[in-house]
Amino acid sequence: MDERELRADVVRVVRELDASGLNRGTSGNVSARFGAGMLVTPSGVRGADLEPEMLAFMPLDGEGWTGPMKPSSEWRFHRDLYRARAELQAIVHTHAPFSTILSIARKPVPAVHYMMAAFGGLEIRCSDYATFGTAALSDAVVAAMEGRAGCLMANHGMVVGGPTLTRAAWLAHELEALAHQYYHVLQIGGGVILTPAELAEAAAGFAGYGPKA
Ligand code: 13P
Ligand code: ZN
Repeated sequence: MDERELRADVVRVVRELDASGLNRGTSGNVSARFGAGMLVTPSGVRGADLEPEMLAFMPLDGEGWTGPMKPSSEWRFHRDLYRARAELQAIVHTHAPFSTILSIARKPVPAVHYMMAAFGGLEIRCSDYATFGTAALSDAVVAAMEGRAGCLMANHGMVVGGPTLTRAAWLAHELEALAHQYYHVLQIGGGVILTPAELAEAAAGFAGYGPKA
Protein backbone atom coordinates (compact mmCIF):
# COMPACT_ATOMS: atom_id res chain seq x y z
CA MET A 1 0.00 0.00 0.00
CA ASP A 2 1.23 3.49 -0.72
CA GLU A 3 0.83 6.26 1.86
CA ARG A 4 -2.44 7.53 0.42
CA GLU A 5 -4.02 4.06 0.51
CA LEU A 6 -2.72 3.38 4.01
CA ARG A 7 -4.14 6.65 5.36
CA ALA A 8 -7.50 5.85 3.78
CA ASP A 9 -7.38 2.35 5.28
CA VAL A 10 -6.77 3.73 8.80
CA VAL A 11 -9.82 5.99 8.41
CA ARG A 12 -11.88 3.04 7.13
CA VAL A 13 -10.96 1.00 10.22
CA VAL A 14 -11.76 3.85 12.65
CA ARG A 15 -15.17 4.37 11.05
CA GLU A 16 -15.89 0.64 11.04
CA LEU A 17 -15.00 0.33 14.75
CA ASP A 18 -17.35 3.24 15.51
CA ALA A 19 -20.18 1.83 13.36
CA SER A 20 -19.92 -1.58 15.01
CA GLY A 21 -20.05 -0.18 18.55
CA LEU A 22 -16.51 -1.24 19.42
CA ASN A 23 -15.51 2.38 19.80
CA ARG A 24 -17.26 5.68 20.29
CA GLY A 25 -16.73 9.41 20.24
CA THR A 26 -13.11 10.44 20.50
CA SER A 27 -12.08 7.27 22.36
CA GLY A 28 -9.57 4.86 20.92
CA ASN A 29 -6.88 5.26 18.29
CA VAL A 30 -5.47 3.39 15.30
CA SER A 31 -2.04 3.34 13.68
CA ALA A 32 -0.19 1.67 10.83
CA ARG A 33 3.55 1.19 10.43
CA PHE A 34 4.82 3.20 7.50
CA GLY A 35 8.48 2.99 6.50
CA ALA A 36 10.64 3.89 9.50
CA GLY A 37 7.69 5.42 11.29
CA MET A 38 3.96 5.17 11.81
CA LEU A 39 0.80 6.93 10.73
CA VAL A 40 -1.41 7.50 13.78
CA THR A 41 -4.84 9.04 14.27
CA PRO A 42 -4.94 12.58 15.67
CA SER A 43 -5.92 13.20 19.30
CA GLY A 44 -9.55 13.94 20.11
CA VAL A 45 -11.10 13.57 16.65
CA ARG A 46 -14.32 11.60 16.19
CA GLY A 47 -14.36 8.95 13.48
CA ALA A 48 -17.07 10.85 11.60
CA ASP A 49 -14.79 13.92 11.40
CA LEU A 50 -11.59 12.06 10.58
CA GLU A 51 -9.95 12.59 7.18
CA PRO A 52 -6.85 10.78 5.87
CA GLU A 53 -4.70 13.93 5.83
CA MET A 54 -5.33 14.46 9.59
CA LEU A 55 -3.17 11.45 10.53
CA ALA A 56 0.22 12.31 12.03
CA PHE A 57 3.43 10.70 10.85
CA MET A 58 5.90 9.88 13.62
CA PRO A 59 9.35 8.34 13.17
CA LEU A 60 9.79 5.33 15.45
CA ASP A 61 13.18 6.51 16.67
CA GLY A 62 11.98 9.72 18.33
CA GLU A 63 9.09 11.77 19.64
CA GLY A 64 8.62 14.22 16.77
CA TRP A 65 5.69 14.23 14.39
CA THR A 66 4.50 15.88 11.23
CA GLY A 67 0.93 16.64 10.26
CA PRO A 68 -1.78 19.23 10.71
CA MET A 69 -2.92 17.91 14.11
CA LYS A 70 -1.38 16.53 17.30
CA PRO A 71 -1.01 12.74 17.25
CA SER A 72 -3.04 10.51 19.57
CA SER A 73 -2.19 10.93 23.24
CA GLU A 74 -1.36 7.21 23.15
CA TRP A 75 1.38 7.52 20.50
CA ARG A 76 3.87 6.07 23.00
CA PHE A 77 2.41 2.59 23.20
CA HIS A 78 1.83 2.51 19.43
CA ARG A 79 5.47 3.51 18.84
CA ASP A 80 6.85 1.21 21.52
CA LEU A 81 4.89 -1.80 20.24
CA TYR A 82 6.25 -1.27 16.71
CA ARG A 83 9.74 -0.95 18.15
CA ALA A 84 9.41 -4.10 20.27
CA ARG A 85 7.54 -6.24 17.74
CA ALA A 86 8.85 -6.30 14.18
CA GLU A 87 5.87 -8.35 12.96
CA LEU A 88 3.29 -5.71 13.90
CA GLN A 89 2.11 -3.48 11.06
CA ALA A 90 -1.13 -2.15 12.54
CA ILE A 91 -2.42 -1.39 16.05
CA VAL A 92 -5.96 -0.75 17.25
CA HIS A 93 -6.89 0.59 20.69
CA THR A 94 -10.53 0.81 21.78
CA HIS A 95 -12.65 1.20 24.90
CA ALA A 96 -14.90 -1.66 23.71
CA PRO A 97 -17.62 -2.27 26.32
CA PHE A 98 -17.01 -5.83 27.56
CA SER A 99 -13.22 -5.66 27.27
CA THR A 100 -13.36 -2.49 29.36
CA ILE A 101 -15.64 -4.04 31.99
CA LEU A 102 -13.22 -6.97 32.43
CA SER A 103 -10.28 -4.53 32.52
CA ILE A 104 -11.99 -2.73 35.42
CA ALA A 105 -12.40 -6.07 37.20
CA ARG A 106 -8.74 -6.73 36.25
CA LYS A 107 -9.79 -10.14 34.99
CA PRO A 108 -7.66 -11.68 32.26
CA VAL A 109 -9.77 -13.49 29.65
CA PRO A 110 -9.22 -17.27 29.73
CA ALA A 111 -9.69 -19.67 26.81
CA VAL A 112 -13.48 -19.69 26.88
CA HIS A 113 -13.58 -20.24 23.11
CA TYR A 114 -11.17 -21.66 20.55
CA MET A 115 -10.85 -18.18 18.98
CA MET A 116 -8.34 -17.52 21.77
CA ALA A 117 -5.96 -19.33 19.40
CA ALA A 118 -5.82 -16.15 17.29
CA PHE A 119 -4.07 -14.36 20.15
CA GLY A 120 -1.07 -16.65 20.65
CA GLY A 121 -1.49 -17.67 24.27
CA LEU A 122 -3.66 -19.39 26.86
CA GLU A 123 -5.29 -16.13 27.99
CA ILE A 124 -5.60 -12.44 27.21
CA ARG A 125 -3.61 -10.67 29.91
CA CYS A 126 -4.73 -7.47 31.64
CA SER A 127 -1.98 -4.86 31.88
CA ASP A 128 -1.13 -2.98 35.05
CA TYR A 129 -2.90 0.34 35.47
CA ALA A 130 -1.19 3.59 34.47
CA THR A 131 -2.50 7.02 33.44
CA PHE A 132 -3.49 7.33 29.80
CA GLY A 133 -0.84 8.69 27.48
CA THR A 134 2.11 7.97 29.78
CA ALA A 135 5.34 6.09 29.27
CA ALA A 136 4.27 3.94 32.26
CA LEU A 137 1.13 2.88 30.37
CA SER A 138 3.22 2.11 27.31
CA ASP A 139 5.56 -0.10 29.37
CA ALA A 140 2.56 -1.88 30.92
CA VAL A 141 0.97 -2.50 27.51
CA VAL A 142 4.18 -3.76 25.90
CA ALA A 143 4.62 -6.18 28.83
CA ALA A 144 1.01 -7.45 28.70
CA MET A 145 1.26 -7.91 24.93
CA GLU A 146 4.44 -10.00 25.06
CA GLY A 147 4.00 -12.94 22.71
CA ARG A 148 0.34 -12.02 22.19
CA ALA A 149 -1.76 -10.20 19.62
CA GLY A 150 -3.90 -8.41 22.21
CA CYS A 151 -4.35 -7.43 25.85
CA LEU A 152 -6.73 -5.66 28.18
CA MET A 153 -5.58 -2.34 29.70
CA ALA A 154 -6.57 -1.97 33.35
CA ASN A 155 -9.53 0.40 33.88
CA HIS A 156 -9.20 1.58 30.30
CA GLY A 157 -9.87 -0.80 27.40
CA MET A 158 -7.95 -3.05 25.07
CA VAL A 159 -5.25 -3.04 22.42
CA VAL A 160 -4.57 -5.44 19.56
CA GLY A 161 -1.91 -5.59 16.88
CA GLY A 162 -1.47 -7.51 13.67
CA PRO A 163 0.20 -7.77 10.28
CA THR A 164 -2.50 -5.68 8.53
CA LEU A 165 -5.13 -3.13 9.51
CA THR A 166 -7.84 -5.56 8.43
CA ARG A 167 -6.49 -8.26 10.74
CA ALA A 168 -6.00 -5.84 13.64
CA ALA A 169 -9.63 -4.71 13.31
CA TRP A 170 -10.73 -8.36 13.12
CA LEU A 171 -8.72 -9.14 16.28
CA ALA A 172 -10.40 -6.21 18.05
CA HIS A 173 -13.79 -7.76 17.26
CA GLU A 174 -12.63 -11.22 18.35
CA LEU A 175 -11.17 -9.94 21.62
CA GLU A 176 -14.39 -8.12 22.40
CA ALA A 177 -16.33 -11.30 21.54
CA LEU A 178 -14.20 -13.32 23.99
CA ALA A 179 -14.70 -10.65 26.67
CA HIS A 180 -18.46 -10.64 25.99
CA GLN A 181 -18.62 -14.43 26.27
CA TYR A 182 -16.52 -14.55 29.43
CA TYR A 183 -18.52 -11.76 31.10
CA HIS A 184 -21.75 -13.68 30.55
CA VAL A 185 -20.28 -17.03 31.55
CA LEU A 186 -19.30 -15.42 34.87
CA GLN A 187 -22.97 -14.41 35.30
CA ILE A 188 -24.10 -18.04 35.15
CA GLY A 189 -21.55 -19.31 37.61
CA GLY A 190 -18.60 -20.04 35.34
CA GLY A 191 -17.81 -22.35 32.45
CA VAL A 192 -15.30 -24.89 31.20
CA ILE A 193 -12.01 -23.38 30.06
CA LEU A 194 -10.20 -25.09 27.17
CA THR A 195 -7.06 -26.97 28.16
CA PRO A 196 -3.63 -26.00 26.80
CA ALA A 197 -3.72 -29.15 24.61
CA GLU A 198 -7.16 -28.29 23.21
CA LEU A 199 -6.04 -24.77 22.49
CA ALA A 200 -2.80 -25.97 20.86
CA GLU A 201 -4.84 -28.19 18.54
CA ALA A 202 -7.09 -25.28 17.64
CA ALA A 203 -4.03 -23.09 17.05
CA ALA A 204 -2.54 -25.67 14.67
CA GLY A 205 -5.68 -25.68 12.58
CA PHE A 206 -5.74 -21.94 12.77
CA ALA A 207 -2.54 -21.14 10.88
CA GLY A 208 -3.50 -18.89 8.02
CA TYR A 209 -7.07 -18.41 9.22
CA GLY A 210 -8.40 -14.88 9.24
CA PRO A 211 -10.30 -12.26 7.27
CA LYS A 212 -9.70 -12.25 3.53
CA ALA A 213 -9.44 -8.59 2.60
P1 13P B 1 -6.71 10.20 21.69
O1 13P B 1 -7.96 10.90 21.19
O2 13P B 1 -5.65 11.17 22.13
O3 13P B 1 -6.22 9.17 20.70
O4 13P B 1 -7.09 9.45 23.03
C1 13P B 1 -8.13 8.49 23.08
C2 13P B 1 -7.83 7.42 24.04
O5 13P B 1 -8.45 6.38 23.97
C3 13P B 1 -6.79 7.63 25.08
O6 13P B 1 -6.53 6.44 25.75
ZN1 ZN C 1 -7.94 4.90 25.47
